[in-house]
Amino acid sequence: MRAGMIGLGAMGLGMAANLAEAGYLAAVYNRTTAKAHDFAQPLDVVVYEKPEQLAAQVDIVLLCVSADNDVLSLVQAIAGSIRPGSVVVDMSTVSSETAVQAAALLEERQVAFLDAPVSGGVEGAKNGTLSMMVGGDEQALEKVRLVLEAMTARIIHIGPTGTGQATKAVNQVMCAGINQAVTEALAFAAAQQLPMAQVLEAVAGGAAGNWFLDHRGASMTNGVFAPGFKLALHHKDLKICQAMAEQVGSHLPLTDATVLAYRQLMAEGFGEEDISALYRLKHLE
Ligand code: NAP
Repeated sequence: MRAGMIGLGAMGLGMAANLAEAGYLAAVYNRTTAKAHDFAQPLDVVVYEKPEQLAAQVDIVLLCVSADNDVLSLVQAIAGSIRPGSVVVDMSTVSSETAVQAAALLEERQVAFLDAPVSGGVEGAKNGTLSMMVGGDEQALEKVRLVLEAMTARIIHIGPTGTGQATKAVNQVMCAGINQAVTEALAFAAAQQLPMAQVLEAVAGGAAGNWFLDHRGASMTNGVFAPGFKLALHHKDLKICQAMAEQVGSHLPLTDATVLAYRQLMAEGFGEEDISALYRLKHLE
C-alpha cells in the first residue's frame, strides 16, 4: 500500500519518518515545499508541489495540518484527482463537523474518510507511540490499519464519522485541566523555594504523576517553552470544545479559564510557544 503524507509540521515530520521506515511512504506534500525537500532528500520519497498530484499517485492520503479550513481546503483540492477506492485519514485536530463535511466531499468520489486525531505529543509522533481515536467506516480502517500502526501504539475505533474528533475534544479538555494543575503546582513549589529537580522526581513517582509533568515539568521550571504543542493550536482546539459543549449542554469551567489565559498569552506574543507557557502566568516574579 502506497501512502502519501500532507503536512510536515511538528507532528507530521515524525509520523512521516515512521511511515518511511516501515516502507509505506511513497510521496509527501508540504505547503512550504523546502521542508518537504529537506525531509525527502535522503529517502526514496517523491515530493509533490500540489496536493492533487500526490493524491492521484497513492492508495492512502494522510493529513496532519493546523485547523478546520486547512483540512477542508486540502480535501477540496484532492477530491478531483484522488482515485476511487482510496482512503483519506485526517490526523489533524479539528471539529467533528469538519470531519462530516470532508467525508461527504469524498464519498462522491467513492473515497472513504477517517477522522483519526492523535494524542501523545511530538515525542509520540517521533517514537511511533501515538494513541489514535478513529471515526468512520470500520472496514476502511481495517484496510489501512497496518499503515496507521507504523505511527501508533494504540488505535481505537470510536464510531461513525466525527466521533474520532469528538473523542479528541475530550482529550483536549483533559489536557487543559492537566496544564492548569501542573503549572499551578510547580509555581507553588517554586514560590516555596523548593529544590525543583527533587520535587519533580518525587511527585512524578506518585499519584500525581502524568505525561505532561514528565515531558514539560523540567523545561517549564527552567523557563524553556519550545514547542511541543503550540499554545495557539491548543487554543484553537479549546474553542472547538467550547462550541461542542454548548451544543450538548456541558459546562467546561477549566477549559473556559484556559481559553482566557491562552488569549492573554497570545496577546503578549507567546502563541507560538508550548502550552506549558501557561506557567508564565502562574509563576509571577
Ligand atoms: P505545526 O508544526 O504548526 O504544522 C502545521 C502543518 O500544517 C505544517 O506542515 C503547515 O505547512 C501545514 N499547513 C497549515 N495550514 C495549511 C494549509 N492551509 N495548507 C497546507 N498545509 C497547511 O503543527 P503540528 O504541531 O504539527 O500540529 C498539526 C495538527 O496536529 C494540528 O491540528 C494540531 O492541533 C494537532 N496535534 C498537535 C500535537 C502536538 O503536540 N504538536 C499533538 C496532537 C495533535 P507549513 O510548513 O507550510 O507551515
